Amino acid sequence: MNITKSISLFQEAQKIFPGGVNSPVRAFRAVGGQPLFIERGEGPYLFDVDGNRYIDYVLSWGPLITGHAHPKVIEAIQQAAVKGTSYGAPSPLEIELAKSIMDFLPNIEMIRFVNSGTEATMSALRLARAYTRREKIIKFDGCYHGHADMLLVQAGSGVATLGLPDSPGVPSAVAADTLVANFNDLESVEALFKKYPDQIAGLIVEPVAGNMGVVPPVDGFLEGLRKLTTEYGTVLIFDEVMTGFRVHRGSAQTLYNIKPDLTTLGKVIGGGLPVGAYGGKQEIMQMVAPLGAMYQAGTLSGNPLAMSAGIAALELIRDEKIWERLEMLAGRLAAGISSVAKSAGVPIQQTRVGTMFTNFFSETKPVDWNTVKGADKVRFGKFFTNMLENGVYLAPSQFEAGFISTLHDENIIAATVNAAEKSMKSL
Ligand SMILES: *Cc1c(COP(=O)(O)O)cnc(C)c1O
Repeated sequence: MNITKSISLFQEAQKIFPGGVNSPVRAFRAVGGQPLFIERGEGPYLFDVDGNRYIDYVLSWGPLITGHAHPKVIEAIQQAAVKGTSYGAPSPLEIELAKSIMDFLPNIEMIRFVNSGTEATMSALRLARAYTRREKIIKFDGCYHGHADMLLVQAGSGVATLGLPDSPGVPSAVAADTLVANFNDLESVEALFKKYPDQIAGLIVEPVAGNMGVVPPVDGFLEGLRKLTTEYGTVLIFDEVMTGFRVHRGSAQTLYNIKPDLTTLGKVIGGGLPVGAYGGKQEIMQMVAPLGAMYQAGTLSGNPLAMSAGIAALELIRDEKIWERLEMLAGRLAAGISSVAKSAGVPIQQTRVGTMFTNFFSETKPVDWNTVKGADKVRFGKFFTNMLENGVYLAPSQFEAGFISTLHDENIIAATVNAAEKSMKSL
């Protein structure tokens, strides 16, 4: 595989950007390689600057459920662009995307658009604090909710991959109000509630963890969180920035039939452009300025290009049949990889919910960060490199989710399983 141009671009980039990248996991540090510079994406494929083609399972880390450069999404962006790129005033597109989202997610009674998942979660937590007049929050070990100070505590893949347990620069006073429980362990949550019965403003959770690799909730876990938060007057926040329109047509809250108080969204709802959102119960959302006193604002929020891309992307995944097909394809991929791993004698633990999956190189069933973190990173790194050489682009870390798009078809899946067969043999 010739990657000469990527190598020289990375050398240049390292002089300009910290680590040569604008978001840490892109640097391939966890797999000991060098990142590929991308020239273009098309459907299920990525093309690097040296002209190599890869089947893409990263899909911009989740957003591209309709694949790269879907003609309908591109057309929507083009049509919006000629009408101007930002107004700083309301546009009908915001209402259209909001209504589309609410149609999929009826628990959202009122919504606010922001520009990233990070903004969505930090705003939702500020709102939870404003609503309850309390200060502490609960998050889970291994869950990532963006890079806001209060959430950068035991925060999963990106941080774990680089071996930074926490980040310097996060004030200890801020981190002190963040309590950390174990995913899938209700007792650890209950213990925190018993210790601080009237101090916990919000509990934030990825209903299917995706940022330590995919770890589904065990039976009763999400129900238990709903029950405990109701009992203690705490706002339950489902961070569906990744799981939204990924694990199910109606996201995790529909799949598991739990009604969170607030939901945070991002990734898919922007159709590949920068968008985030938080929304939920009217009674809570009406505290947001200018209706209420909780301040939160954004120069480019509700941006017409981003709204248009989001509207087009959600339209493309509205039909239930598309979800049946995605489910079938993702299932076929998992079965194929499981079978070639077995033949090669390589133990893996597969997790998958809807279009999100991980193959952990491990013999331990993944239920939380403790059971996940022992996966064989060296072996994963070899597999990752082999897959790349066989034309398949996986996330460059063992602790990430893989994704499929509506443009991954049976042939793409078969080619991937073929590549996995070759890649497993030499492990
Ligand atoms: C990606 C992600 C975020 C952060 O979103 P950004 O757009 O990267 O700021 C927050 N929460 C979850 C669950 C995510 O997967």
